[in-house]
Amino acid sequence: MFEGLSKRLGDVFDKLRGRGALSEADVDMALREVRTALLEADVALPVVRQFIDSVRPKAIGADVIRSVTPGQMVIKIVNDHLVEMLGGTVADLDLNAIPPVVILMVGLQGSGKTTSSAKIAYRLSQGPQGMAAEMFGGAFSTKRKVLMASLDTRRPAAQHQLAVLGEQTGVPTLPIVPLEMPLAITRRALETARREGYDVLILDTAGRLSIDEELMTEVKEISDLAKPKETLLVADAMTGQDAVNVAKAFNDRLAVTGIVLTRVDGDSRGGAALSMRAVTGRPVKLIGVGEKFDQLEPFHPDRIASRILGMGDIVSLVERAAETIDKEEAEKLAAKVRKGQFDMDDLLKQLRQLRKMGGLQGLMGMLPGAMQAKAAMSKAKIDETQLKRQEAIILAMTPKERRNPDVIHASRKKRIAKGSGVQIQDVNKLLKQHADMLKMMKRVNKLGEKGFMRSLGGMT
Ligand code: GDP
Ligand code: MG
Repeated sequence: MFEGLSKRLGDVFDKLRGRGALSEADVDMALREVRTALLEADVALPVVRQFIDSVRPKAIGADVIRSVTPGQMVIKIVNDHLVEMLGGTVADLDLNAIPPVVILMVGLQGSGKTTSSAKIAYRLSQGPQGMAAEMFGGAFSTKRKVLMASLDTRRPAAQHQLAVLGEQTGVPTLPIVPLEMPLAITRRALETARREGYDVLILDTAGRLSIDEELMTEVKEISDLAKPKETLLVADAMTGQDAVNVAKAFNDRLAVTGIVLTRVDGDSRGGAALSMRAVTGRPVKLIGVGEKFDQLEPFHPDRIASRILGMGDIVSLVERAAETIDKEEAEKLAAKVRKGQFDMDDLLKQLRQLRKMGGLQGLMGMLPGAMQAKAAMSKAKIDETQLKRQEAIILAMTPKERRNPDVIHASRKKRIAKGSGVQIQDVNKLLKQHADMLKMMKRVNKLGEKGFMRSLGGMT
């Protein structure tokens, strides 16, 4: 008995928790925590401000899904916004040009340019084979003939360092000519790559400990000469707040096309990724996760987002809650099915609710024992426009017609088609779909309630 009571109380509590929209107070309270998390993750201060300002209006007024707290809901919204700001999806290298396609590596000294050059060269020359290849796609799924050249004439050992890495990775490097200047090396590298039929030429440049005019001028000249398809700014994820100034300086002078973030293997929470992206507007394309030449990975915005926020648990909690609600809706539908009461109003409700899940196909997919029907439905791929059209058709029906579609004969069909701006065939098609669904549901009903619920339970 007590169990029943506490359960009921729990239900009430759940309803209270997730009721209504996010208030300004809810949002601001949660955003204070987000701010701290971003700063702890070493996101640059101006970027933190800009981020908070852009997510705030998105969160205020948003619906709180049942069974999560307003604070948790804000975190989920912040997370999604962060993923979006980080580019949403994995950004590919663009190597679509007449070979040799040039990749220019720029950045401060010690940021990881030489190491990253070798990593990218290795990955491209392996194609879909080799260590850790399975996580790469896009430009990396084609095996390429790669040449590397070091333009770092400042440090005596720099060119040699690249040559050694070239031997380790099995990627050819341009032979070293003592005392040759960076621009001359660039010219020779381009000629060699052309003459010897290389697909890709990676130019590893010299860095400085801080931004300076001489370095910038030199890199600019190299860029003008080599006309790189990709100019990758290499930045150390551990540099934190400084990352912004570096990114800005390079981006102002060169057409940076992407960012390689190194040392994401360390303690860094990756806040630099957001700073770099926000300041340059360029995507982070690759991350370095160790010193070895195979420790390179594509950049996944969602993974870095939860690392930056450090609130991955909350995000998955809210996602699970959202799934539960979808499941509850499906169970409500199942109850209607059991009672044989699935009319046009229900179909309309389901169409609206399930539009995000891929329309009727999604709905059919949620019903057990619907494999044949599902296969039939997927032949007629239902798109968004079609869904909206179906909605319009139902809306053009009278309440009576919706409750009992059997009364819809020729003249009514004509009226409905006219009212919803479609052809009579479209009305027919929808009616047939509904009839087919009912038929299928009846068949499912014969399985008996137990079997039905069991299969429902297994559909999570
Ligand atoms: P450059 O001066 O920009 O060419 O930098 P280097 O490529 O020479 O790298 C400087 C140091 O950082 C070397 O000791 C590298 O092994 C190390 N390094 C580069 N990338 C990474 C990375 O992703 N993770 C770790 N842990 N170390 C890295
Ligand atoms: Mg170097």
